[in-house]
Amino acid sequence: MQIRDLCSPVPAIRSDVTGDAVYQRFEAEPDVMLIAVVDADHRPIGLVERNAFLLRMARAYGRALFAHRPISLLMDPKPLIVAGETLASDFTADVMSSRPADLLSGFIVVERDGVYAGVGALLDLLRAASEERSRFASDMFDLARSLETARAQADHNRIFTEAVIEHIPSMVWVKSIQDGRYVMLNRAGEAILGVARDAFIGQTSSDFFPGAVADSLREEDRRLATNGGVVDFEMLPYLRGGEDQRLLHLKKIAICDGEGHPEYILGVGEDITDRRQAEARIERMAHFDSLTDLPNRVLFGSHLEATLDQAARRRERAAVLVIDLDRFKLVNDTLGHAAGDALLTEVAQRMRACIGPRDMLARLGGDEFAIIQAGLAQPTETRALAARVVAALTEPFDLGGHEARIGASIGVAVYPEDAAAGHELLKKADIALYRVKSEGRGAYRFFERDMDDRIQAQRAVEIDLREAMRKGELAAHFQPLFDIARRRIVGFEALMRWPHPTRGWVPPAEFIPIAEDLGLIRPLGEWMLNESCRMAAQWPEPATVAVNISPLQMHMAGFVADVTRALAHSGLAPGRLELEITESVVLDNDPAILRHLHQLREMGVRISLDDFGTGYASLAYLRRLPLDKIKIDQSFIRGLPDAPDAMAIVRAVARLAGDLGMVTTAEGVETEAQLDVLAQLGCTQAQGFLIGHADADPVRHLRAQGPRQAGGING
Ligand code: C2E
Ligand code: MG
Ligand code: MG
Repeated sequence: MQIRDLCSPVPAIRSDVTGDAVYQRFEAEPDVMLIAVVDADHRPIGLVERNAFLLRMARAYGRALFAHRPISLLMDPKPLIVAGETLASDFTADVMSSRPADLLSGFIVVERDGVYAGVGALLDLLRAASEERSRFASDMFDLARSLETARAQADHNRIFTEAVIEHIPSMVWVKSIQDGRYVMLNRAGEAILGVARDAFIGQTSSDFFPGAVADSLREEDRRLATNGGVVDFEMLPYLRGGEDQRLLHLKKIAICDGEGHPEYILGVGEDITDRRQAEARIERMAHFDSLTDLPNRVLFGSHLEATLDQAARRRERAAVLVIDLDRFKLVNDTLGHAAGDALLTEVAQRMRACIGPRDMLARLGGDEFAIIQAGLAQPTETRALAARVVAALTEPFDLGGHEARIGASIGVAVYPEDAAAGHELLKKADIALYRVKSEGRGAYRFFERDMDDRIQAQRAVEIDLREAMRKGELAAHFQPLFDIARRRIVGFEALMRWPHPTRGWVPPAEFIPIAEDLGLIRPLGEWMLNESCRMAAQWPEPATVAVNISPLQMHMAGFVADVTRALAHSGLAPGRLELEITESVVLDNDPAILRHLHQLREMGVRISLDDFGTGYASLAYLRRLPLDKIKIDQSFIRGLPDAPDAMAIVRAVARLAGDLGMVTTAEGVETEAQLDVLAQLGCTQAQGFLIGHADADPVRHLRAQGPRQAGGING
């Protein structure tokens, strides 16, 4: 506070003002304590203090002496004069040290130019001082309060930071650079390391890690301290027991003190065991088949390349075996996917037992497997391996009570004879496999050069067949069935015909197995069934139609429904439909097939056993089957009437069939002599070129023999 602010601007008086006038003024203005005396220029020349003045005037003769005299006689001629801008505290301090007594009589305040401004008393100074002090005190109080808040804030920040570090789901630790001792570890760190904080803090790396590891950690810390930067690494924590080993991903930096000297190593770590395990699982999924746990096609391919590289360096041989399961589709379709999976697992197990330690077994997909046989000295080793696999997979499989018999076909190609590159080798093995399958399966074959051409031809058939089916180019022709006793045509067998644009008529024996392989047999067979029923419905009753059914069709769950539909659509009476099945179907022993046969017979459909004598069905076996007719294969008929064993067989079959109430049909009858002897042997029906070839329009055969003469096959 400046002096100017605490003085009172009491009007000053001139030095010639009388004592009496001053007396009256003090009386009129009781609050006025001091009056300044100024000259003509309004500059102070003296000071009159109320109490001292009144005391003088009150003395004996005082009034009489001074009433009419100028005030200059009564004033203090040397008052304290102070400039208005002076700080009150400075002024007080100054006067207190030099002339403290003068303060008691007050002081005059002047402007900068020395002109009178006001008067002040000690009291004013004291008041000012006390006001100042109280303001200071409140400042101090405010300061203290804000200091307090700041400290609370700092405390809060510190607690907050500590809580954050404590609850961070990553491990955080701090190590002193100076002595290499840990000074901090958060909660996640305790969990990850499996160590309590108390046991950790104060220890060094050497207390927890094997010597070499601790050394390298120290070296790393040292480098961080001098070079800065971040160290990013993975390690096992070691602290835990052997069992639950976790993998840690860690990052470390050095932190410096106020002057920039590295003081601590701060580390953050995460447990990445689970992530790594998931990554490993995904990695495994990309390279292994989940069902059998065998390497998949991808891994097989890369392993094959590696094997061939090595074989080239070591001048060794290697073989690729491609294995295809026979009749797997059948098991899958009839027993369901769970059984199919169980079968594949068991297949994988059996094959694993067949291979050597340097070989690799893989599942290429579906029911296709492959083996790489490495480091071969002799080709006989491959032969032995292939034979082992075929034998192992021929043994019956027990699928939860169901006995399944499959088998394996194997194609083999050998490095370096057959091909140098992996994919070429695989292709050659595939060609050999294709060959095995077309030759009847259940065997292995090595690739041979001329297979290539034949395969190309078969592939071409494949492509053309799909095309023909799509365009509806396949046709049904009908070959007459002749009742020997009555010398009448009583029905027809439907035979599939494929008029190929360039190759002419392709025989069914050539394309039906391919259709079976390609999974086209169901649509093909269904079409044939419908077409045959549709045609037969237009023939004069009771002419019958016989349709050949592939073994694969018989296994299919929807087969009976397919037949029912074909009959319903065509309006053909079930009794006029015969289905020709082969021995392989009945030998299969599949309960589903027996069920289908019984269902069909209950509907009134008849069942014929085709090509009897080419398989292994015994006569005794026939008794147990729901059959209406046995067709004796043309290989026996060809021997008639000269070959005695053929005669004996035909006679025996005809007799047994007769006993069982079945019809017998002789296939491939080409001569009158054959027909004569068949009549003698008791055969009921004949089919062959003698009677008629298969024809797109069979009805003319019926017309030729007169309208009412056609009869049922049984009579
Ligand atoms: P398959 O059922 O035994 O049919 C009789 C075969 O013998 C027919 O051959 C027929 O043309 C032939 N053949 C008939 N009479 C004589 C003869 O006097 N002498 C000679 N040498 N052969 C004769 P194709 O038409 O070539 O059929 C061959 C086989 O193809 C059939 O044998 C049958 O198993 C199968 N097949 C034909 N059509 C179909 C069909 O639609 N579905 C199925 N799954 N198989 C069929
Ligand atoms: Mg037939
Ligand atoms: Mg036949």
